[in-house]
Amino acid sequence: MMDDLKALYQEVIIDHSRNPRNFGALESANCSAEGVNPLCGDELTLQCWLDGNDVIQDVKFVGQGCAISIASASIMTEMLKGLKKSEAESLFEDFRARVTGLDEFRSADIGKLEVLSGVREFPTRVKCATLPWHTAIAAINRSEEQVTTE
Ligand code: ZN
Repeated sequence: MMDDLKALYQEVIIDHSRNPRNFGALESANCSAEGVNPLCGDELTLQCWLDGNDVIQDVKFVGQGCAISIASASIMTEMLKGLKKSEAESLFEDFRARVTGLDEFRSADIGKLEVLSGVREFPTRVKCATLPWHTAIAAINRSEEQVTTE
């Protein structure tokens, strides 16, 4: 990756970690989940409002963690709004493939999530980046109340 692009990505991550978007409680939530990444100490609670057509109308989170986990949650919440449950799930698959380096032969457009693609060089940080997603998927599927990366 070119150095100036790397620096730009880093700037976006720092901005989102310092001023997370959609941070707070969601009054109208009808599904939620908690996620923990014991390896790093990241913890977050995610709430969302899924309408009758399985469209994510709103999503918010609270929690604490490293810059990567907070930035990932912040960017994710921006992207999830307006997506159908199935679209959110396939975006996560593409994102996960990108950050784990399994997408060598794929070139899915993951939009803004691209800024986090650098974590593939740091295997221990991959869980920080994917934790918010595991939590969101659990919430919209109402499958588990708590997810852990371990
Ligand atoms: Zn972390």
